[in-house]
Amino acid sequence: MTPLLQIEDLAVSFDTYAGEVKAVRQVSFDVQQGEAVGIVGESGCGKSVTAHSIMRLIPTPPGRIVQGKILFNGVDLLKKSAKEMETIRGNEIGMIFQDPMTSLNPVLTIGLQIAEALQLHQNLPRQAALTRAVELLRLVGIPCPEDRVRNYPHQFSGGMRQRAMIAMALSCNPKLLIADEPTTALDVTIQAQILDLMKNLKSQFNTSIILISHDLGVVAGLCRRIVVMYAGTVCEAGSIRDVFHNPQHPYTWGLLKSVPRLDAQQKQQLAVIDGQPPDLLQPPAGCPFHPRCSYAMQVCTEMDPQITQISEEHRVKCWLQHPGAPKVWREAAGS
Ligand code: SF4
Ligand code: MG
Repeated sequence: MTPLLQIEDLAVSFDTYAGEVKAVRQVSFDVQQGEAVGIVGESGCGKSVTAHSIMRLIPTPPGRIVQGKILFNGVDLLKKSAKEMETIRGNEIGMIFQDPMTSLNPVLTIGLQIAEALQLHQNLPRQAALTRAVELLRLVGIPCPEDRVRNYPHQFSGGMRQRAMIAMALSCNPKLLIADEPTTALDVTIQAQILDLMKNLKSQFNTSIILISHDLGVVAGLCRRIVVMYAGTVCEAGSIRDVFHNPQHPYTWGLLKSVPRLDAQQKQQLAVIDGQPPDLLQPPAGCPFHPRCSYAMQVCTEMDPQITQISEEHRVKCWLQHPGAPKVWREAAGS
């Protein structure tokens, strides 16, 4: 089956006075119909730039898609006109952001904002759009939606605002929902409720989801597959099982050590990965992770690692796993 979304060798740069910032490079992954895929990594690793590229929301200039394809239902979004993209954004791909307050208009009621989206994209008359707005608020679990539809954003709690944003993103029945850190600003209970809501939407409407997060635990709760990004590139990708139970990249090892375990017998110290992510204006030569990697070898400082396919779905970009790497390296890493 053709995937709903296929990203092939995407590279995005930003031209700054100081030079070219290679924000994303060699990014490839796909999303099947009805599948949830998580993208994880520290801030500045290119997760949001990747998401904005799919939506064609990269400001140009200073941004620039240097190369690659973003195939949606087999059609390259990068070749679409701005007008065509507007229709796709309204009808096929929905997006929710970390902070709903910045995406909601403070002087319009929640109901009117959802209705406006419906009028614009679905050509619904105003009254029908308002009725649909109430239904959507109910769908995302807002209590008394008939009354709440008349509230302004500031009258909603943070969790309710995020639900309202999801309602708005769903107003166009998108085939793909991109959620960029949708729960980061929320407390854990509300976080779990929002994730449950997204899980229900996925099973009810077969919506595909890209969930962007810096939190592996959040991603594991919703997604079947995971893409780990570091310094603008994919360092490991595979099923949740692959990445959690058979991780192959030193950066993934570090990320996994920093996830709190519910089954831990004693209080466990959360590991942090020493060092800072690289400056993408002057990335280090070779593997971008080498200055922070305890396994770095001579080759890592000189050559960008090749991608090694571990299994059909599981791939890693690290010299340790390269079939040409001396056996001793691999054994040292596995120990
Ligand atoms: Fe570490 Fe080398 Fe693998 Fe990069 S390629 S993650 S530096 S072992
Ligand atoms: Mg981001």
